[in-house]
Amino acid sequence: MNENSSPQTDKKTSTVATNGLIFNEPVVFDLGSPGRQAYSLPECDVPEVEIETLLPPDEIRGPIDDFPELGELDVVRHFTRLSQWNFSIDTNFYPLGSCTMKYNPKINENMARLPGFSQHHPYTPEEFSQGSLQVLFDLQECLQEISGMPHVSLQPAAGAQGEFAGMLMIHDYLAAQGNPRKKVLLPDSAHGTNPASSALCGYTAIQIPSNKDGLIDIEKLEQLMDGDTAAIMLTNPNTLGMFEKDILKITDIVHKKGGLVYCDGANLNAVMGIVKMGEMGIDVLHFNLHKTFSTPHGGGGPGAGPVGVQEKLASFLPVPVIEKNGSHYHMNYDRPQSIGKLKIFYGNFGILLRAYAYILTLGPDGIKEAAQSAVLNANYIKSQLKDIYHLPYPGPSLHECVFNDKNQAGSKVTTMDIAKALIDHGFHPPTVYFPLIVKAALMVEPTETESKETLDQFIQAMKVIAEQAKDDPDAVHDTPKRPKVSRPDEAHAARHPRLRWKK
Ligand SMILES: *Cc1c(COP(=O)(O)O)cnc(C)c1O
Repeated sequence: MNENSSPQTDKKTSTVATNGLIFNEPVVFDLGSPGRQAYSLPECDVPEVEIETLLPPDEIRGPIDDFPELGELDVVRHFTRLSQWNFSIDTNFYPLGSCTMKYNPKINENMARLPGFSQHHPYTPEEFSQGSLQVLFDLQECLQEISGMPHVSLQPAAGAQGEFAGMLMIHDYLAAQGNPRKKVLLPDSAHGTNPASSALCGYTAIQIPSNKDGLIDIEKLEQLMDGDTAAIMLTNPNTLGMFEKDILKITDIVHKKGGLVYCDGANLNAVMGIVKMGEMGIDVLHFNLHKTFSTPHGGGGPGAGPVGVQEKLASFLPVPVIEKNGSHYHMNYDRPQSIGKLKIFYGNFGILLRAYAYILTLGPDGIKEAAQSAVLNANYIKSQLKDIYHLPYPGPSLHECVFNDKNQAGSKVTTMDIAKALIDHGFHPPTVYFPLIVKAALMVEPTETESKETLDQFIQAMKVIAEQAKDDPDAVHDTPKRPKVSRPDEAHAARHPRLRWKK
Protein backbone atom coordinates (compact mmCIF):
# COMPACT_ATOMS: atom_id res chain seq x y z
CA MET A 1 0.00 0.00 0.00
CA ASN A 2 1.42 3.36 -0.96
CA GLU A 3 1.75 5.24 2.31
CA ASN A 4 1.75 8.74 0.81
CA SER A 5 -1.05 8.68 -1.73
CA SER A 6 -4.14 10.75 -1.14
CA PRO A 7 -7.67 9.34 -1.35
CA GLN A 8 -8.32 11.47 -4.41
CA THR A 9 -5.44 10.06 -6.44
CA ASP A 10 -5.29 6.43 -5.43
CA LYS A 11 -8.39 4.28 -5.28
CA LYS A 12 -6.45 1.55 -3.48
CA THR A 13 -6.24 3.59 -0.30
CA SER A 14 -9.19 5.37 1.16
CA THR A 15 -7.26 7.51 3.59
CA VAL A 16 -3.75 7.74 4.92
CA ALA A 17 -4.62 8.69 8.43
CA THR A 18 -2.26 6.23 10.10
CA ASN A 19 1.04 7.83 9.18
CA GLY A 20 1.63 9.81 12.37
CA LEU A 21 4.88 10.04 14.32
CA ILE A 22 4.19 7.49 17.06
CA PHE A 23 6.93 6.57 19.52
CA ASN A 24 7.73 3.33 21.17
CA GLU A 25 7.00 3.48 24.86
CA PRO A 26 8.26 1.23 27.65
CA VAL A 27 6.05 0.59 30.67
CA VAL A 28 6.46 3.16 33.42
CA PHE A 29 8.24 0.60 35.62
CA ASP A 30 11.09 0.54 33.13
CA LEU A 31 11.56 4.31 33.29
CA GLY A 32 13.22 6.59 35.81
CA SER A 33 15.95 6.01 38.35
CA PRO A 34 16.02 5.86 42.16
CA GLY A 35 15.64 9.18 43.91
CA ARG A 36 14.24 11.05 40.91
CA GLN A 37 11.13 13.02 41.81
CA ALA A 38 8.76 15.68 40.57
CA TYR A 39 9.03 18.10 43.46
CA SER A 40 11.52 19.55 45.92
CA LEU A 41 10.36 20.73 49.30
CA PRO A 42 12.07 23.32 51.48
CA GLU A 43 13.94 21.95 54.45
CA CYS A 44 11.63 20.80 57.23
CA ASP A 45 11.37 23.39 60.03
CA VAL A 46 9.43 21.23 62.50
CA PRO A 47 10.74 18.07 64.20
CA GLU A 48 10.44 14.94 62.04
CA VAL A 49 8.18 12.21 63.39
CA GLU A 50 8.02 8.54 62.34
CA ILE A 51 4.81 7.83 60.44
CA GLU A 52 4.16 4.76 62.63
CA THR A 53 3.60 7.07 65.63
CA LEU A 54 0.84 8.89 63.73
CA LEU A 55 -1.12 6.21 61.88
CA PRO A 56 -2.33 2.69 62.71
CA PRO A 57 -0.31 -0.02 60.87
CA ASP A 58 -3.11 -0.95 58.45
CA GLU A 59 -3.26 2.64 57.19
CA ILE A 60 0.41 2.61 56.15
CA ARG A 61 1.38 1.32 52.71
CA GLY A 62 4.27 -1.11 52.62
CA PRO A 63 7.16 -0.75 50.17
CA ILE A 64 6.44 -1.45 46.46
CA ASP A 65 9.06 -3.41 44.53
CA ASP A 66 10.73 -1.41 41.77
CA PHE A 67 8.43 1.56 42.33
CA PRO A 68 9.12 3.88 39.41
CA GLU A 69 10.72 7.17 40.42
CA LEU A 70 10.44 9.84 37.76
CA GLY A 71 10.66 13.59 37.26
CA GLU A 72 7.59 15.57 36.27
CA LEU A 73 8.61 15.90 32.64
CA ASP A 74 9.22 12.14 32.41
CA VAL A 75 5.71 11.49 33.71
CA VAL A 76 4.02 14.06 31.49
CA ARG A 77 5.83 12.80 28.38
CA HIS A 78 5.19 9.14 29.18
CA PHE A 79 1.45 9.57 29.53
CA THR A 80 1.16 12.05 26.68
CA ARG A 81 2.96 9.61 24.36
CA LEU A 82 0.69 6.81 25.50
CA SER A 83 -2.38 8.99 24.89
CA GLN A 84 -1.22 9.38 21.28
CA TRP A 85 -1.69 5.66 20.79
CA ASN A 86 -5.38 6.08 21.51
CA PHE A 87 -7.95 6.18 18.81
CA SER A 88 -10.59 8.80 19.55
CA ILE A 89 -13.44 10.71 18.01
CA ASP A 90 -11.16 13.76 18.16
CA THR A 91 -8.71 12.07 15.80
CA ASN A 92 -10.73 9.96 13.35
CA PHE A 93 -14.10 8.59 12.24
CA TYR A 94 -15.51 6.23 14.86
CA PRO A 95 -18.66 4.51 13.49
CA LEU A 96 -19.45 2.32 16.49
CA GLY A 97 -23.04 1.09 16.10
CA SER A 98 -25.41 1.18 19.09
CA CYS A 99 -22.85 3.20 21.07
CA THR A 100 -23.49 6.54 19.28
CA MET A 101 -20.05 8.12 19.41
CA LYS A 102 -21.56 11.53 19.98
CA TYR A 103 -20.21 14.83 18.74
CA ASN A 104 -19.04 16.77 21.78
CA PRO A 105 -18.79 20.50 21.18
CA LYS A 106 -15.76 21.77 23.12
CA ILE A 107 -17.82 24.55 24.71
CA ASN A 108 -19.49 21.88 26.85
CA GLU A 109 -16.10 20.96 28.31
CA ASN A 110 -15.54 24.61 29.21
CA MET A 111 -18.95 24.78 30.89
CA ALA A 112 -18.24 21.65 32.92
CA ARG A 113 -14.93 23.15 34.08
CA LEU A 114 -16.37 26.45 35.32
CA PRO A 115 -15.01 26.66 38.89
CA GLY A 116 -18.44 27.59 40.29
CA PHE A 117 -19.57 24.12 39.23
CA SER A 118 -16.44 21.99 39.25
CA GLN A 119 -15.34 23.14 42.71
CA HIS A 120 -18.77 23.08 44.26
CA HIS A 121 -18.57 20.54 47.07
CA PRO A 122 -21.45 18.02 47.00
CA TYR A 123 -22.03 18.51 50.74
CA THR A 124 -22.59 22.25 50.35
CA PRO A 125 -25.93 23.09 52.02
CA GLU A 126 -28.94 23.50 49.77
CA GLU A 127 -29.20 27.27 50.26
CA PHE A 128 -25.68 27.70 48.82
CA SER A 129 -26.27 25.23 45.97
CA GLN A 130 -29.13 26.99 44.23
CA GLY A 131 -27.24 27.45 40.92
CA SER A 132 -26.31 23.79 40.62
CA LEU A 133 -29.80 22.70 41.66
CA GLN A 134 -31.29 24.99 39.05
CA VAL A 135 -29.16 23.30 36.37
CA LEU A 136 -30.48 19.91 37.49
CA PHE A 137 -34.07 21.11 37.63
CA ASP A 138 -33.88 22.82 34.23
CA LEU A 139 -32.24 19.79 32.63
CA GLN A 140 -35.03 17.59 34.01
CA GLU A 141 -37.53 19.94 32.37
CA CYS A 142 -35.66 19.84 29.04
CA LEU A 143 -35.64 16.04 29.04
CA GLN A 144 -39.32 15.97 29.98
CA GLU A 145 -40.10 18.26 27.05
CA ILE A 146 -37.97 16.28 24.58
CA SER A 147 -39.35 12.87 25.62
CA GLY A 148 -42.90 13.70 26.62
CA MET A 149 -42.34 11.88 29.91
CA PRO A 150 -43.80 14.06 32.71
CA HIS A 151 -41.18 13.15 35.37
CA VAL A 152 -37.43 12.61 35.08
CA SER A 153 -34.72 11.64 37.58
CA LEU A 154 -31.13 12.44 36.63
CA GLN A 155 -29.51 10.12 39.12
CA PRO A 156 -28.63 6.89 37.27
CA ALA A 157 -24.97 6.84 36.23
CA ALA A 158 -25.43 4.94 32.96
CA GLY A 159 -28.07 3.47 30.67
CA ALA A 160 -27.80 0.15 32.48
CA GLN A 161 -28.45 1.78 35.84
CA GLY A 162 -31.38 3.71 34.33
CA GLU A 163 -32.81 0.35 33.23
CA PHE A 164 -32.35 -1.06 36.71
CA ALA A 165 -34.06 1.99 38.26
CA GLY A 166 -36.92 1.74 35.76
CA MET A 167 -37.50 -1.97 36.29
CA LEU A 168 -37.40 -1.50 40.07
CA MET A 169 -40.08 1.19 39.79
CA ILE A 170 -42.22 -1.10 37.63
CA HIS A 171 -41.76 -3.88 40.18
CA ASP A 172 -42.69 -1.67 43.14
CA TYR A 173 -45.64 -0.11 41.33
CA LEU A 174 -47.12 -3.51 40.51
CA ALA A 175 -46.29 -4.80 44.00
CA ALA A 176 -48.16 -1.83 45.49
CA GLN A 177 -51.18 -2.96 43.47
CA GLY A 178 -50.89 -6.43 44.98
CA ASN A 179 -48.77 -8.46 42.50
CA PRO A 180 -45.34 -7.60 41.08
CA ARG A 181 -45.75 -10.45 38.51
CA LYS A 182 -42.98 -12.77 37.33
CA LYS A 183 -41.94 -12.24 33.72
CA VAL A 184 -40.59 -9.55 31.42
CA LEU A 185 -40.82 -9.78 27.62
CA LEU A 186 -37.76 -8.84 25.55
CA PRO A 187 -37.27 -8.81 21.77
CA ASP A 188 -34.43 -11.08 20.62
CA SER A 189 -32.65 -7.99 19.30
CA ALA A 190 -32.37 -6.46 22.80
CA HIS A 191 -29.11 -5.18 24.26
CA GLY A 192 -27.69 -7.54 26.89
CA THR A 193 -28.25 -5.06 29.70
CA ASN A 194 -32.05 -5.41 29.26
CA PRO A 195 -32.39 -9.04 30.39
CA ALA A 196 -29.74 -8.38 33.04
CA SER A 197 -31.74 -5.48 34.53
CA SER A 198 -34.93 -7.56 34.49
CA ALA A 199 -33.18 -10.44 36.24
CA LEU A 200 -31.74 -8.11 38.91
CA CYS A 201 -35.31 -7.12 39.76
CA GLY A 202 -36.33 -10.79 40.14
CA TYR A 203 -37.97 -11.26 36.74
CA THR A 204 -37.62 -14.11 34.28
CA ALA A 205 -36.73 -12.80 30.81
CA ILE A 206 -38.93 -14.18 28.00
CA GLN A 207 -37.76 -13.69 24.44
CA ILE A 208 -40.06 -12.39 21.68
CA PRO A 209 -38.78 -13.30 18.22
CA SER A 210 -38.42 -10.58 15.60
CA ASN A 211 -40.35 -10.89 12.35
CA LYS A 212 -38.73 -10.98 8.92
CA ASP A 213 -38.54 -7.18 8.86
CA GLY A 214 -36.52 -7.06 12.10
CA LEU A 215 -39.44 -5.71 14.17
CA ILE A 216 -41.35 -7.18 17.11
CA ASP A 217 -43.61 -10.03 15.98
CA ILE A 218 -47.04 -8.78 17.05
CA GLU A 219 -48.74 -12.18 16.91
CA LYS A 220 -46.09 -13.69 19.15
CA LEU A 221 -46.43 -10.74 21.52
CA GLU A 222 -50.16 -11.34 21.74
CA GLN A 223 -49.58 -15.00 22.59
CA LEU A 224 -46.88 -14.29 25.19
CA MET A 225 -48.40 -11.29 26.98
CA ASP A 226 -50.37 -12.51 30.00
CA GLY A 227 -51.39 -11.60 33.55
CA ASP A 228 -48.08 -12.91 34.89
CA THR A 229 -46.01 -10.56 32.74
CA ALA A 230 -44.93 -7.30 34.37
CA ALA A 231 -43.63 -5.47 31.33
CA ILE A 232 -42.16 -5.45 27.87
CA MET A 233 -38.70 -3.94 27.56
CA LEU A 234 -38.28 -2.73 24.01
CA THR A 235 -35.82 -0.45 22.25
CA ASN A 236 -37.13 2.16 19.83
CA PRO A 237 -35.60 2.68 17.34
CA ASN A 238 -34.41 -0.89 17.86
CA THR A 239 -30.85 -2.19 17.68
CA LEU A 240 -31.18 -2.68 13.91
CA GLY A 241 -31.80 1.08 13.70
CA MET A 242 -35.46 0.42 12.79
CA PHE A 243 -38.48 2.24 14.18
CA GLU A 244 -41.10 -0.07 15.73
CA LYS A 245 -43.87 1.20 13.49
CA ASP A 246 -46.52 -0.77 15.38
CA ILE A 247 -45.52 0.78 18.69
CA LEU A 248 -49.11 1.93 19.45
CA LYS A 249 -50.41 -1.59 18.87
CA ILE A 250 -47.61 -3.02 21.05
CA THR A 251 -48.21 -0.68 23.99
CA ASP A 252 -51.93 -1.32 23.71
CA ILE A 253 -51.54 -5.12 23.87
CA VAL A 254 -49.31 -4.85 26.95
CA HIS A 255 -51.48 -2.28 28.76
CA LYS A 256 -54.68 -4.29 28.16
CA LYS A 257 -53.17 -7.16 30.16
CA GLY A 258 -52.12 -4.82 32.98
CA GLY A 259 -48.43 -4.71 32.03
CA LEU A 260 -46.13 -1.71 31.61
CA VAL A 261 -43.94 -0.64 28.71
CA TYR A 262 -40.25 0.08 29.26
CA CYS A 263 -38.39 1.78 26.42
CA ASP A 264 -34.61 1.57 26.19
CA GLY A 265 -33.81 5.05 24.88
CA ALA A 266 -30.20 4.39 23.86
CA ASN A 267 -31.13 5.21 20.27
CA LEU A 268 -32.86 8.50 21.00
CA ASN A 269 -30.24 10.28 18.87
CA ALA A 270 -32.22 9.18 15.82
CA VAL A 271 -35.57 10.63 16.90
CA MET A 272 -34.92 13.44 19.40
CA GLY A 273 -36.96 16.54 18.64
CA ILE A 274 -39.14 14.50 16.27
CA VAL A 275 -40.88 11.81 18.30
CA LYS A 276 -42.15 12.00 21.89
CA MET A 277 -41.89 8.62 23.55
CA GLY A 278 -44.33 9.67 26.29
CA GLU A 279 -47.08 10.02 23.68
CA MET A 280 -46.66 6.49 22.35
CA GLY A 281 -47.72 4.62 25.47
CA ILE A 282 -44.22 4.31 26.96
CA ASP A 283 -44.38 4.16 30.77
CA VAL A 284 -40.66 4.28 31.54
CA LEU A 285 -37.80 5.52 29.35
CA HIS A 286 -34.10 5.83 30.01
CA PHE A 287 -31.82 8.29 28.24
CA ASN A 288 -28.13 7.69 27.63
CA LEU A 289 -26.97 11.30 27.86
CA HIS A 290 -23.52 10.20 26.68
CA LYS A 291 -25.05 8.83 23.47
CA THR A 292 -27.53 11.59 22.77
CA PHE A 293 -26.61 14.85 24.47
CA SER A 294 -22.81 15.21 24.31
CA THR A 295 -20.13 13.75 26.65
CA PRO A 296 -17.12 11.90 25.29
CA HIS A 297 -17.63 8.24 26.20
CA GLY A 298 -14.49 6.49 25.12
CA GLY A 299 -12.72 4.47 27.76
CA GLY A 300 -15.93 3.38 29.44
CA GLY A 301 -17.36 6.46 31.05
CA PRO A 302 -18.47 8.26 33.08
CA GLY A 303 -21.94 8.68 31.64
CA ALA A 304 -25.46 9.45 32.78
CA GLY A 305 -28.65 7.45 32.31
CA PRO A 306 -31.61 9.58 33.49
CA VAL A 307 -34.94 7.82 33.71
CA GLY A 308 -38.31 9.30 32.77
CA VAL A 309 -41.69 8.00 33.96
CA GLN A 310 -45.40 8.60 33.58
CA GLU A 311 -47.43 10.18 36.40
CA LYS A 312 -48.50 6.85 37.91
CA LEU A 313 -44.87 5.90 38.60
CA ALA A 314 -43.67 9.30 39.86
CA SER A 315 -43.89 8.48 43.56
CA PHE A 316 -41.40 5.59 43.02
CA LEU A 317 -38.58 7.77 41.57
CA PRO A 318 -35.20 7.58 43.34
CA VAL A 319 -34.49 10.15 46.06
CA PRO A 320 -33.71 12.97 46.22
CA VAL A 321 -36.22 14.49 43.81
CA ILE A 322 -35.26 18.04 42.80
CA GLU A 323 -38.23 20.37 43.27
CA LYS A 324 -38.87 24.07 42.89
CA ASN A 325 -40.87 25.87 45.57
CA GLY A 326 -41.40 29.47 44.45
CA SER A 327 -37.87 30.49 43.46
CA HIS A 328 -36.16 28.01 45.83
CA TYR A 329 -34.73 24.69 44.59
CA HIS A 330 -35.07 21.85 47.03
CA MET A 331 -33.95 18.21 47.29
CA ASN A 332 -36.86 16.16 48.52
CA TYR A 333 -35.89 12.97 50.39
CA ASP A 334 -39.32 12.54 51.98
CA ARG A 335 -40.78 10.11 49.45
CA PRO A 336 -42.09 6.99 51.21
CA GLN A 337 -42.67 4.95 48.02
CA SER A 338 -39.28 5.80 46.46
CA ILE A 339 -37.03 2.94 45.28
CA GLY A 340 -34.37 4.74 47.36
CA LYS A 341 -30.99 6.21 46.63
CA LEU A 342 -29.11 4.91 43.59
CA LYS A 343 -25.95 6.91 43.32
CA ILE A 344 -23.70 8.85 45.67
CA PHE A 345 -24.60 12.51 45.80
CA TYR A 346 -26.88 13.53 42.90
CA GLY A 347 -25.62 11.64 39.85
CA ASN A 348 -22.67 12.44 37.55
CA PHE A 349 -23.08 16.20 37.73
CA GLY A 350 -20.36 17.08 35.18
CA ILE A 351 -22.06 14.92 32.56
CA LEU A 352 -25.46 16.45 33.33
CA LEU A 353 -23.91 19.89 32.87
CA ARG A 354 -22.52 18.94 29.45
CA ALA A 355 -25.96 17.66 28.38
CA TYR A 356 -27.59 20.88 29.60
CA ALA A 357 -25.08 23.00 27.67
CA TYR A 358 -25.62 20.84 24.57
CA ILE A 359 -29.40 21.17 24.69
CA LEU A 360 -29.30 24.93 25.29
CA THR A 361 -26.77 25.48 22.50
CA LEU A 362 -28.73 23.53 19.90
CA GLY A 363 -32.25 24.50 20.92
CA PRO A 364 -35.34 22.64 19.65
CA ASP A 365 -34.50 23.14 15.95
CA GLY A 366 -30.86 22.15 16.36
CA ILE A 367 -31.75 19.01 18.25
CA LYS A 368 -34.13 17.93 15.53
CA GLU A 369 -31.54 18.72 12.86
CA ALA A 370 -28.89 16.64 14.67
CA ALA A 371 -31.26 13.65 14.60
CA GLN A 372 -32.01 14.19 10.92
CA SER A 373 -28.31 14.40 10.08
CA ALA A 374 -27.61 11.18 12.00
CA VAL A 375 -30.30 9.42 9.92
CA LEU A 376 -29.11 10.99 6.66
CA ASN A 377 -25.49 9.94 7.26
CA ALA A 378 -26.40 6.34 8.07
CA ASN A 379 -28.67 6.07 5.06
CA TYR A 380 -26.00 7.52 2.77
CA ILE A 381 -23.55 4.83 3.88
CA LYS A 382 -26.25 2.17 3.55
CA SER A 383 -27.15 3.25 0.02
CA GLN A 384 -23.51 3.27 -1.09
CA LEU A 385 -22.61 -0.12 0.36
CA LYS A 386 -25.82 -2.14 0.03
CA ASP A 387 -24.78 -3.79 -3.23
CA ILE A 388 -21.38 -4.77 -1.86
CA TYR A 389 -22.13 -5.91 1.68
CA HIS A 390 -25.15 -8.01 2.55
CA LEU A 391 -27.98 -6.25 4.39
CA PRO A 392 -29.90 -8.96 6.28
CA TYR A 393 -32.78 -6.56 7.06
CA PRO A 394 -33.03 -4.25 4.06
CA GLY A 395 -36.11 -2.32 5.21
CA PRO A 396 -36.12 1.38 6.12
CA SER A 397 -33.70 2.19 8.94
CA LEU A 398 -32.70 5.31 10.82
CA HIS A 399 -29.35 6.20 12.39
CA GLU A 400 -27.42 2.96 11.91
CA CYS A 401 -27.22 0.15 9.38
CA VAL A 402 -26.36 -3.47 9.97
CA PHE A 403 -24.43 -5.43 7.34
CA ASN A 404 -22.80 -8.84 7.62
CA ASP A 405 -20.21 -10.96 5.82
CA LYS A 406 -22.61 -13.16 3.78
CA ASN A 407 -21.36 -11.77 0.46
CA GLN A 408 -17.82 -12.70 1.50
CA ALA A 409 -18.80 -16.29 2.34
CA GLY A 410 -16.57 -18.68 0.42
CA SER A 411 -13.56 -16.42 0.76
CA LYS A 412 -11.77 -16.64 4.08
CA VAL A 413 -12.85 -13.15 4.98
CA THR A 414 -15.19 -12.66 7.94
CA THR A 415 -16.78 -9.71 9.70
CA MET A 416 -13.85 -9.68 12.10
CA ASP A 417 -11.38 -9.44 9.21
CA ILE A 418 -13.31 -6.56 7.63
CA ALA A 419 -13.35 -4.74 10.96
CA LYS A 420 -9.61 -5.25 11.46
CA ALA A 421 -8.82 -4.20 7.90
CA LEU A 422 -10.60 -0.88 8.46
CA ILE A 423 -7.97 -0.03 11.09
CA ASP A 424 -5.30 0.05 8.38
CA HIS A 425 -7.43 2.61 6.55
CA GLY A 426 -7.48 4.84 9.64
CA PHE A 427 -11.02 4.04 10.84
CA HIS A 428 -12.23 2.62 14.09
CA PRO A 429 -14.04 -0.67 13.39
CA PRO A 430 -17.84 -0.59 13.61
CA THR A 431 -19.63 -2.67 16.24
CA VAL A 432 -19.33 -6.35 15.31
CA TYR A 433 -21.34 -9.48 16.17
CA PHE A 434 -24.19 -7.40 17.69
CA PRO A 435 -27.19 -7.46 17.55
CA LEU A 436 -27.23 -11.22 18.01
CA ILE A 437 -30.14 -11.79 15.61
CA VAL A 438 -27.80 -10.95 12.73
CA LYS A 439 -25.18 -13.60 12.09
CA ALA A 440 -21.74 -11.91 12.02
CA ALA A 441 -23.24 -8.41 12.21
CA LEU A 442 -21.25 -5.36 11.17
CA MET A 443 -23.10 -2.40 12.57
CA VAL A 444 -22.23 1.06 11.30
CA GLU A 445 -23.38 4.23 13.04
CA PRO A 446 -21.86 7.47 11.76
CA THR A 447 -21.85 10.52 14.01
CA GLU A 448 -24.29 13.18 12.79
CA THR A 449 -21.56 15.78 12.35
CA GLU A 450 -19.35 13.83 9.89
CA SER A 451 -18.70 15.52 6.56
CA LYS A 452 -19.55 13.89 3.23
CA GLU A 453 -15.81 13.63 2.52
CA THR A 454 -15.26 11.56 5.66
CA LEU A 455 -18.22 9.31 4.87
CA ASP A 456 -16.91 8.89 1.31
CA GLN A 457 -13.48 7.89 2.59
CA PHE A 458 -15.08 5.28 4.82
CA ILE A 459 -17.25 3.98 1.96
CA GLN A 460 -14.18 3.83 -0.27
CA ALA A 461 -12.27 1.86 2.39
CA MET A 462 -15.15 -0.61 2.69
CA LYS A 463 -15.15 -1.02 -1.12
CA VAL A 464 -11.39 -1.57 -1.22
CA ILE A 465 -11.69 -4.24 1.47
CA ALA A 466 -14.52 -6.00 -0.40
CA GLU A 467 -12.40 -6.06 -3.57
CA GLN A 468 -9.42 -7.38 -1.65
CA ALA A 469 -11.58 -10.06 -0.07
CA LYS A 470 -12.15 -11.39 -3.58
CA ASP A 471 -8.65 -10.92 -5.01
CA ASP A 472 -6.40 -11.57 -2.06
CA PRO A 473 -8.33 -12.79 1.00
CA ASP A 474 -5.11 -13.69 2.84
CA ALA A 475 -4.08 -10.05 2.79
CA VAL A 476 -7.35 -9.03 4.49
CA HIS A 477 -6.95 -11.84 6.95
CA ASP A 478 -3.50 -10.50 7.88
CA THR A 479 -4.68 -7.03 8.86
CA PRO A 480 -4.14 -4.69 10.60
CA LYS A 481 -0.52 -4.15 9.71
CA ARG A 482 -0.16 -0.48 10.52
CA PRO A 483 -0.90 -0.15 14.25
CA LYS A 484 1.55 -1.14 16.98
CA VAL A 485 -0.48 -4.18 17.94
CA SER A 486 -2.06 -6.30 15.23
CA ARG A 487 -4.47 -8.95 16.53
CA PRO A 488 -4.14 -9.43 20.26
CA ASP A 489 -6.00 -12.24 21.97
CA GLU A 490 -8.64 -9.77 23.14
CA ALA A 491 -10.34 -11.99 25.72
CA HIS A 492 -7.00 -12.96 27.24
CA ALA A 493 -5.74 -9.37 27.20
CA ALA A 494 -8.86 -8.16 29.02
CA ARG A 495 -8.83 -10.90 31.66
CA HIS A 496 -5.08 -11.17 32.23
CA PRO A 497 -3.65 -7.74 31.50
CA ARG A 498 0.13 -7.68 31.74
CA LEU A 499 0.71 -4.40 33.52
CA ARG A 500 4.31 -5.03 34.32
CA TRP A 501 7.25 -6.22 32.25
CA LYS A 502 9.34 -8.82 34.04
CA LYS A 503 12.96 -8.05 33.29
C1 LIG B 1 -25.45 1.39 25.27
C2 LIG B 1 -26.72 0.68 25.36
C3 LIG B 1 -27.23 0.30 26.62
C4 LIG B 1 -26.48 0.44 27.92
O1 LIG B 1 -26.13 1.77 28.22
P1 LIG B 1 -24.85 2.14 29.10
O2 LIG B 1 -24.93 3.61 29.24
O3 LIG B 1 -23.66 1.65 28.32
O4 LIG B 1 -24.99 1.41 30.40
C5 LIG B 1 -28.49 -0.29 26.65
N1 LIG B 1 -29.17 -0.51 25.51
C6 LIG B 1 -28.70 -0.18 24.29
C7 LIG B 1 -29.54 -0.44 23.06
C8 LIG B 1 -27.44 0.43 24.17
O5 LIG B 1 -26.97 0.75 22.96
